[in-house]
Amino acid sequence: MEVGKKYFEELIDEMKADRGVTQDVELTADDLKELASQFKAEYKSKIGEDFPDDPKEQLMGAIKAVFRSWDNPRANVYRRDNDIPYSWGTAVNVQSMAFGNMGDDCGTGVAFTRDPATGEKGLFGEFLTNAQGEDVVAGVRTPMHISEMEQKFPEAFKQFNEVCKTLENHYRDMQDMEFTVEHGKLFMLQTRNGKRTAQAALKIACDLVDEGMRTEQEAVLMIDPRNLDTLLHPQFDAKELKAATPIGKGLGASPGAACGKIVFTADDAEKWNANGEKVVLVRLETSPEDITGMKASQGILTVRGGMTSHAAVVARGMGTCCVSGCSDIVMDEANKQFTLAGKTFKEGDFISIDGSTGNIYDGIIPTVDATIAGEFGRVMAWADKYRKLKVRTNADTPADAKKARELGAEGIGLCRTEHMFFEADRIAAFREMICADTVEEREAALDKIMPYQQGDFEKLYEALEGNPVTIRFLDPPLHEFVPTEEADIEALAKAQNKSVAQIKAIIDSLHEFNPMMGHRGCRLAVTYPEIAKMQTKAVIRAALNVKKAHPDWNIVPEIMIPLVGDVKELKYVKKFVVETADAEIAAAGADLKYEVGTMIEIPRAALTADDIAKEAEFFCFGTNDLTQMTFGFSRDDAGKFLDSYYDAKIYENDPFAKLDQTGVGKLMEMAVKLGKDVRPEMHCGICGEHGGDPTSVEFCHKIGLDYVSCSPFRVPIARLAAAQAAISEGK
Ligand code: PEP
Ligand code: MG
Repeated sequence: MEVGKKYFEELIDEMKADRGVTQDVELTADDLKELASQFKAEYKSKIGEDFPDDPKEQLMGAIKAVFRSWDNPRANVYRRDNDIPYSWGTAVNVQSMAFGNMGDDCGTGVAFTRDPATGEKGLFGEFLTNAQGEDVVAGVRTPMHISEMEQKFPEAFKQFNEVCKTLENHYRDMQDMEFTVEHGKLFMLQTRNGKRTAQAALKIACDLVDEGMRTEQEAVLMIDPRNLDTLLHPQFDAKELKAATPIGKGLGASPGAACGKIVFTADDAEKWNANGEKVVLVRLETSPEDITGMKASQGILTVRGGMTSHAAVVARGMGTCCVSGCSDIVMDEANKQFTLAGKTFKEGDFISIDGSTGNIYDGIIPTVDATIAGEFGRVMAWADKYRKLKVRTNADTPADAKKARELGAEGIGLCRTEHMFFEADRIAAFREMICADTVEEREAALDKIMPYQQGDFEKLYEALEGNPVTIRFLDPPLHEFVPTEEADIEALAKAQNKSVAQIKAIIDSLHEFNPMMGHRGCRLAVTYPEIAKMQTKAVIRAALNVKKAHPDWNIVPEIMIPLVGDVKELKYVKKFVVETADAEIAAAGADLKYEVGTMIEIPRAALTADDIAKEAEFFCFGTNDLTQMTFGFSRDDAGKFLDSYYDAKIYENDPFAKLDQTGVGKLMEMAVKLGKDVRPEMHCGICGEHGGDPTSVEFCHKIGLDYVSCSPFRVPIARLAAAQAAISEGK
């Protein structure tokens, strides 16, 4: 009846204190009778009616309570975290009661057929004599190891072992069972496939194949791809986490766990880290200037931003834990402090964050390092054998590309070239380019940028050893790059021989009301063709150089034009890309094939994909922008109101994390079909953040994409999800 359990617990505690006992079982029958009347009184005071006497009414009340529980806040959060649709509903089993608390020849226990932490085969569990299940779970009494049950109840234990075998053989999976012994007789209450750590999941899957219980395909299907995160990123110590209560919640934007001292600026993060401190960087939002500070941090916590905001995308790329968009934080950057859950946190205070759940904790929760289990490679090899989708990575640096290759990436699906300018010494030249007000000035800035670009591209081609590399031309939301600090503005003024006032005027003129829908993507190339020409030269020269050193590598540069909405835009930009590329190739006297394709990330491009395919040699779905523009809400701000949408059951998931198959997916499916009808040989992929989300990967498989591309640490997840999609389809 939704009367908090705590009120009844309090009554029990008061009674035990009054009687001078510590265990529930030490209360006498008279004590329990008195407690029952107190419970009834408590119920009446909260509900306003007597507790029903009629057992049928009690039973119906209990059944209804189970059905109602489908809708409690905990269930809503759990379903969202575990991809369970609200529409499924729940069920209730009614069974007669077996009593484990009728004396010392009774007891109850919970057991697994294999160790849920390691996967080791063998009974694992706990048992308590003269107790009910709740006593085992609540942890009031310390249960004994399941093996000790053998001495106390040899017959029941023998039978229990038989039942375990029967159940495991029947379900062909590790079982998690609850049972009761009533006067020496065994009653099985429940069995289910047991929850397990990622490491255990891999071991159990492999063992079941070796034991002849499962095929390789079935083993692949048994592993939850999202679970692999825990093998790749540090996690909180499970025991310590259990004892901790979150003080706030943001979006779990980049998985893993982090604890450290709070710092408020990227500079401090670097300095403190250099002094051996572990830090968590807390920012209103992050921007390119913060990148080195982000790298120096254990974790990143932001007040604003969604699943595809700068902090989230960059942190995911680096494999660093990030919780974004915790709008409950009241930030006071000037005084280097913030408040959350009524407490003020200052620089140097400890905080812990969980980038998988989005939970934030006060103080230190120790973390344990990621360890890739021995069976990981074996399961991944099976996944690769059965999947049809290729898996590429979103990588902007040779280091990220290398990491992704180690994790199984078969190419780069997206290199965001603007991300190559985050380092302090490079961002200056980039700003000069943005703030140039003549072609000459811009070309001078581009001359400075060109060597960086070419050098980076060469390193990417080298890291990929002849596997495909898609390089996307500049798509900087300009507001992310213009200087905001006075010192940076002064430096820029000096470099450009301008006054600070002039630079400030240029920055003001660049201000946009909707920068994410502003002067971005191919619009920059249309306004300033010299930028795309410089990038073309850098790509082609890099490819030619690396090809010369490795003639056996199949290097076919893929140049990707972003944010195209009309084929004429693409045609316009493609023309000077091709002219520049051909001139470079001819000047080198070389022979090099290259492709010019586009991102499909504006609904209009999807709707007119047949036209676009006449010019585009490949498509790659930018589902971050495509989601933003299909829904008509900002990828950076939606977090502010999405919670209300979940509460109202309008949405069950964040569409920036999990692809909206109904709407955005329909556009994608249509675009693939329209595109491939015109150009059957074209390859189509996805490089929005959804490329690493298992259900979205399954959808990409279904609509016939050739590859998914995701951040390096999500590559194994995508490989497994792709295999599951192919295997499930085959069934
Ligand atoms: C996208 O929009 O999905 C995409 C990959 O590009 P970006 O996130 O850089 O806008
Ligand atoms: Mg985009």
